[in-house]
Amino acid sequence: MRPRFWEMPLAALNRDEWEALCDGCGKCCLNKLEDEETGEVALTRVACRLLDCASARCSSYADRHDHVPECILLTPTSIPRHLYWLPATCAYRLRHLGHPLPDWHPLLTGDPESPHRAGAGVRGLAIPETEVPEDEWEDHIIEEPIP
Ligand code: SF4
Repeated sequence: MRPRFWEMPLAALNRDEWEALCDGCGKCCLNKLEDEETGEVALTRVACRLLDCASARCSSYADRHDHVPECILLTPTSIPRHLYWLPATCAYRLRHLGHPLPDWHPLLTGDPESPHRAGAGVRGLAIPETEVPEDEWEDHIIEEPIP
């Protein structure tokens, strides 16, 4: 990976750099509720069934689409249509908008734990969707954790 690659345009990143840009917060793996009339999106703490809620990592990242076909594939060209729901601190969102990474991002700290220490991750917050019926998700609406 190239020095300070995260400052380059997203479209210039190679595959390893692209993957390394993810801060591991896990917020994109929380289910959302979208109001069909207003388009308003509410975040819940109910996580995708593949999310390991203890680590906040996908338990089957490489073949996640075999298990969850609707999982979003973020690319430089797909980001614009997902901006309305992407977490405010998502590194892809920030770089797409030309913003710097937050100082707790692992690429700046060298520590993959730093987002969780800063309070940007879903550890201790997420609960598995296998434990909550979908008609009860609205009881678990939360504000996005933002340090
Ligand atoms: S919200 Fe963005 S930075 Fe956080 S885990 Fe998802 S893709 Fe990675």
